[in-house]
Amino acid sequence: MDEEKVETILENLYKKLTIIKIEGMYGLVPLIPGIFELYFAGGNDTEENLKKAGIIFHKFLNKVYEGEKATRDQPMFLPKLPLGAKKTLIKIDETIDMATQSSILPYELVEELIDQNDYFAKVPCQCRMVGEYAGDPCTLAPSDVGCLAAGDPARTLVKHNMGEEMTKEEAIDYLKRASEAGLIHNGGRLSGPSATLSICNCCPCHCPSVKAERNYRVRGVNPSNFEPVINNELCNKCEICMRKCPVHVIFHKWPSEADSSDEAMVIKTEHCLGCGVCAVNCPEEAIKMVRVRDFVPPESSPLQKELGLG
Ligand code: SF4
Ligand code: SF4
Repeated sequence: MDEEKVETILENLYKKLTIIKIEGMYGLVPLIPGIFELYFAGGNDTEENLKKAGIIFHKFLNKVYEGEKATRDQPMFLPKLPLGAKKTLIKIDETIDMATQSSILPYELVEELIDQNDYFAKVPCQCRMVGEYAGDPCTLAPSDVGCLAAGDPARTLVKHNMGEEMTKEEAIDYLKRASEAGLIHNGGRLSGPSATLSICNCCPCHCPSVKAERNYRVRGVNPSNFEPVINNELCNKCEICMRKCPVHVIFHKWPSEADSSDEAMVIKTEHCLGCGVCAVNCPEEAIKMVRVRDFVPPESSPLQKELGLG
């Protein structure tokens, strides 16, 4: 095959974003994260091909963690607490070292993404998009409520027609809509400055990582450093938190034992992701997020930065 023909093939693949091109050189990226996100976010293929690929990916994503033996040593995601966390969701507990409590790190709050940037872009959720192509749409939110990028990654996405520019006010509304729908603000399992530049808004029915936790109790998401605590004097047992928790770890009337726990909401923290969805949706402000650990994720790799994933 001559060079010209090879270049034509590579250029066509690049236009569909199944390969990447950096400084005139073509290269492969992983399937996920990589080809999957770029191909569907780019949408540069025929509707027929996108639908065919969507059905295949939907089947694949449904199978990723199926079965009792599935494991994942290094989950891809780390949740960020929803907007308002600093003011209303995080409980300052005097019994815990105040220095630790006050040093909330930038990658722990979605607020940092808003506060530190002035350019934003939204990208449709590729997981919910393939569900829509396969006739299995998400009941919590459409694919239109997808990922949010800020700063340089947002500019790159808009430049390549993968993202739609948003104002700061629109980005704030977008995040509120996501957390009210029960979506988790999942950042990469990363720290460093670029960790505050992009998030996915994940549902438990189409995101394989969250679904792994909900359906199979496989660690698909690295829990945040926070866990919810319910103030039973404020709680009216409306069960909203129970219905909103993406991984079903809040219960009422369970376990029905002599400890009276059936009289209060119970959080089984073992599988809690520390996402704050329960806290932000509690109408009585009865749930506060409390720091329970000090996990520090690694810094972004150059490829993760290039893909806007860090
Ligand atoms: S949402 Fe709030 S008030 Fe309702 S049950 Fe949960 S903690 Fe209680
Ligand atoms: S209990 Fe609350 S913080 Fe934990 S996973 Fe459920 S919604 Fe998220």
